[in-house]
Amino acid sequence: MGKTKETVLEISLDALEHNYNFIKSKINSTTKFLAVAKAFAYGSDACKIATKLESLGVNYFAVAYTKEGVELRNAGIKTPILVLHPQAINFKTILEYTLEPNLYSEKILNAFLKIAKAENKQNYPVHIKFNTGLNRLGFTIDSVSKIIKTVTEDNTLHIQSIFSHLAASEDLNEKEFTKEQIKEFCKIKDEIEKLLPYSILTHMANTSGILNYPEAHFSMVRSGIGLYGYGNNPNFDKFLKPVATLKTIISQKHILEPGKSVGYNRGFITDKKIITATLPIGHADGIGRQYGQGKTYVMVNGKKALIVGNVCMDMIMINVTNIDCEEGDEVIIFGPEQSAEDFAKTANSISYELLTSISSRVKRQIKI
Ligand SMILES: *Cc1c(COP(=O)(O)O)cnc(C)c1O
Repeated sequence: MGKTKETVLEISLDALEHNYNFIKSKINSTTKFLAVAKAFAYGSDACKIATKLESLGVNYFAVAYTKEGVELRNAGIKTPILVLHPQAINFKTILEYTLEPNLYSEKILNAFLKIAKAENKQNYPVHIKFNTGLNRLGFTIDSVSKIIKTVTEDNTLHIQSIFSHLAASEDLNEKEFTKEQIKEFCKIKDEIEKLLPYSILTHMANTSGILNYPEAHFSMVRSGIGLYGYGNNPNFDKFLKPVATLKTIISQKHILEPGKSVGYNRGFITDKKIITATLPIGHADGIGRQYGQGKTYVMVNGKKALIVGNVCMDMIMINVTNIDCEEGDEVIIFGPEQSAEDFAKTANSISYELLTSISSRVKRQIKI
């Protein structure tokens, strides 16, 4: 593919396939693979990503919200889709699109049961989430017998899986805490298996859980960030390939004498002669103001160029004083040669936040 002529987020499906195969190589051949495609597949292109992953044979998808699941169904995705955080108001849509809700509280379980019953559903697949320490969503172990009683009273619902979520799987200083979470989930699993007359899937590990805790793989794993090329650890990052590359171009260069200012609020004052380049990307595209003021760099012809002054809504200015470049040249914001993780770190953020912040104004382009 030639150099870009505008701001684009380039998506590499080859990188996605590489990452999928790498993560698959870390799990048993019988362990199922759930691909997390929430938030536009971590800011990329959920439909294209899910279509590719479906062709590679993933067993499940997960999205956060119902609307995201509907979009995947409308794109022709046939694989089961778990909706991680459904709201009761969406339950009719969930049924209409054969999405599988996470039922995380008594209120939500009863609300879904009522609607599924009214629509004469039988053995409708649902997932039950347990809180083992993240304290965000989920039942606790004390609810097990009540849940099973509710679900087995008739055959409206079928528990497809039980699951939990790790709070600090990427932080090896929290190994003890994580091991406690895994132990608690094992207890819940044992109790449920005793009470339920059929077998279910069990899952707990996100990307870092997969890579750091083989004992937490259970019968399915849930990978998000790893599929998109980031492993929360340089030792894993080197085996993964960033799927998304954010590229732009130089719109204009300015030669500034000492004492001149750059951008809104005169965010930067030159103390010597510098050359700046203006780029057509700003905070409305997802590069927030926290990246301004000389904290973060972009790549121009293989060299680092710091962002100068304040990030504007539609533009940023960078310092290209010592860089051989011209108006129209390509600029890499993040991608294989400057990782989104490193870029995000300059403003105390993380790859997850940066990737999912790239706004819909930026054209998504599949790399060919
Ligand atoms: C987002 C999410 C994941 C994916 O986590 P990664 O760290 O991106 O692999 C897995 N499980 C749940 C419940 C999530 O919300």
